[in-house]
Amino acid sequence: MSDTRQKLKTYQTYMDGKWVDAASGKTFETLDPYTGEAWARIPECDETDVNRAVEAAYRAFETGPWPSMTPTTRGKIMRRIGDLIAKHSEHLADIEVRDNGKLISEMAAQTRYMPEWFYYYGGLADKIQGAVVPVDRPEHFNYILREPVGVCAFITPWNSPLMLTSWKLAPALAAGCTVVIKPSEYTSASLLEFMRLVIEEADIPPGVVNVVTGYGAVAGEPLVKHPEVAKIAFTGGTATGARVNALAAQTFKKVSLELGGKSPNIVFDDCVLEDAVSGAISGIFAATGQTCIAGSRLLLQETIHDVFVEKLVAMAKQARLGDPSKSETQVGPVTTPPQYEKILSYIDIAKAEGCTCVLGGGPATKEESGGRYFVKPTIFTGVDNKMRIAQEEVFGPVLSVIKFSDEEDAVRIANEIAYGLGAGVWTQSVKRAHNMARRIKAGTVWVNTYRAVSAQAPFGGVKESGFGRERGHEGILEFLATKNVMINFSEEEHDPFAVAT
Ligand code: NDP
Repeated sequence: MSDTRQKLKTYQTYMDGKWVDAASGKTFETLDPYTGEAWARIPECDETDVNRAVEAAYRAFETGPWPSMTPTTRGKIMRRIGDLIAKHSEHLADIEVRDNGKLISEMAAQTRYMPEWFYYYGGLADKIQGAVVPVDRPEHFNYILREPVGVCAFITPWNSPLMLTSWKLAPALAAGCTVVIKPSEYTSASLLEFMRLVIEEADIPPGVVNVVTGYGAVAGEPLVKHPEVAKIAFTGGTATGARVNALAAQTFKKVSLELGGKSPNIVFDDCVLEDAVSGAISGIFAATGQTCIAGSRLLLQETIHDVFVEKLVAMAKQARLGDPSKSETQVGPVTTPPQYEKILSYIDIAKAEGCTCVLGGGPATKEESGGRYFVKPTIFTGVDNKMRIAQEEVFGPVLSVIKFSDEEDAVRIANEIAYGLGAGVWTQSVKRAHNMARRIKAGTVWVNTYRAVSAQAPFGGVKESGFGRERGHEGILEFLATKNVMINFSEEEHDPFAVAT
């Protein structure tokens, strides 16, 4: 065994309030995508571990204090979670930079804001209200209860592990649910640090939050199939989402799916040009393009196409590639080796489809980037919306520029896609902004901004980008079941054979 391998940090996973190895004793290595070297070992959980975690979560739900404590107390504990995240935000950010290759500038902002998800839903914990519903039956009192659904399974991808977990965990905990989380095999470390520094320190009762690390097919599938799991909150690719949905249907679980995207970022000639150029850059090159909401189809009105492309290329050319842990770095490495290969293959596809590469177009060398797994920020012009490079999710720093003539044409191109996650519109016309917001088929439309998020605003997709909403008031409804209660207080006798209407 080499020196480096001997020095690897070894993690355990967390279930039922304890730190444990996988039952099989197996582990796998996790890479630092900047250096390309393994830096830690993670437990390789399988069905045995999944069963153990789900049983703990089920016990905690059925007999533990979490669902039954007063909502005010739950809300206070959630504030404590937020405070602990704030206390450890730098460390959590550093771990995610190391494991994922995310820029420290982005991670610092993410972990600084992360407490807000817990404060927001902590505040909602004591405002989960039912309703009294007047019914067409005299002397009957009818009301609605909103109850926690039960054990929830979260399956998350590698691109923003902590943030995407928080979007699920905060509303689930506020609702009174218990949870088992299966992070991506590529990026489990930051969640395990979160469990140690936040969940354990916050004194969350055993079994309320559990983690099974491991591979999708081996740890993810048994979790999805487990009969005691009542709800699946999945974020990941569309093909995996379809499989998860089909498996979950066998036991009629409640499901929410946050899937892929190929979002149009639409620039009209009445925009503020500098803002739109900067919005196009952040739409595709921030997070190295590895975001589901990447504005990967840039729709440019033909009247400004040439001047816009010139400015865009000039700005994108300046992007500083390098060590993600340095605050001056603007484009980091691709997170996983398979993703790196996938992005390069899509660059080849675009070239073969006859697009013009006006920037980048291949891997960045070690001399250019200082590290491993770098792809140059890449821009293709002359893209037709029917091409594969326009229709398929690349999930990397590759932008397809498509021309349009007028509003009608922009709407047509924007909507001619299987996905419907995000969209951007750049215009100074209020009328056009509202019209476009209504006509684009997407879960989010940003006008004169892109990628902005907030704890209060719901997020999710339509079409093959999935269903269900995270964040905002709608986010908590995903973790609640509606129960109707009808009480008869009449003294009258009823014929038991009469049809109840
Ligand atoms: P995957 O779909 O490959 O994986 C997502 C998660 O599912 C991982 O934890 C994975 O585990 C797990 N998984 C894989 N196969 C199964 C299975 N058969 N049963 C249960 N779980 C399984 O996505 P990526 O991790 O590659 O993430 C990238 C994708 O996520 C992109 O398409 C992106 O658009 C989407 N995404 C969507 C977001 C949204 O909010 N809409 C946000 C962020 C990303 P393992 O890693 O071990 O394979």
